[in-house]
Amino acid sequence: MEHAGTRVQQFIGDPVSDTPPVDRAKLEAIFSDIQSDMRFDHELNGCLNCGICTATCPSAHYYDYSPREIVQLLWTENLEGIYDAMQEKIWSCAQCYTCAARCPFGNSPGGLVMVMREVAIKHGMESAKNVLRPFSRVMLKLISTGNQLSPDMITKDGFPDWGPNISKVDAPLATLRKAIPMPTLHTTKTAWEVNLKTSVELYTIWEETGVLGSLKTIDTNLHDVISDIMEEKRDELAEWLEEQAEE
Ligand code: SF4
Ligand code: SF4
Repeated sequence: MEHAGTRVQQFIGDPVSDTPPVDRAKLEAIFSDIQSDMRFDHELNGCLNCGICTATCPSAHYYDYSPREIVQLLWTENLEGIYDAMQEKIWSCAQCYTCAARCPFGNSPGGLVMVMREVAIKHGMESAKNVLRPFSRVMLKLISTGNQLSPDMITKDGFPDWGPNISKVDAPLATLRKAIPMPTLHTTKTAWEVNLKTSVELYTIWEETGVLGSLKTIDTNLHDVISDIMEEKRDELAEWLEEQAEE
């Protein structure tokens, strides 16, 4: 996809700062990845700078974050500003898409943030590693079993890095789960059962969609652990299929 770079700024870096400016080639590579994403032109159509998105954004109420600012940075092709926002601010978005429902230009600031996050992961940015680190156990569970976070994982000991409010989750989970009508949910160890064949099919999806490649960029150890589990389960399925063929 061709894009005219008419608004690209010529100077990168703070002229009064001792901090060395980020290499321009790196800034351009990051912006190019954002701009060439097939969603970019659909999510960004112009910007009035009206601030309606920020006025209705829940994250803007609690964090130093503004979807208007994110859109303006992208619309004006402010490469250094985009890079700075990717260091922290883009991770404040709750992905609720209230902004997309409100913008008079039909922009989706939340969608643009999603693209920026994916590019941050692709480039192995430290912010992506820091944000995703507390979720490594969740990702291990999700990718290796096809199952989401199970109730017994949500404990203050299990997630000491989830902030002080994690101490409020102490609850009689085993009893509460028994109150759910579906018998398959009467456990705290899993959310639902995923059979072996489905798990292996999910592995192919994680691989083909690039999820595993992204994971390798931000957490090599977790990627290796998951790869080992995938290999074991694939062997297990192959053995089971052989046994079925012999019967
Ligand atoms: S999707 Fe993100 S930017 Fe948009 S309103 Fe929700 S939190 Fe704010
Ligand atoms: S993205 Fe839309 S709602 Fe937000 S400032 Fe620009 S035009 Fe206004």
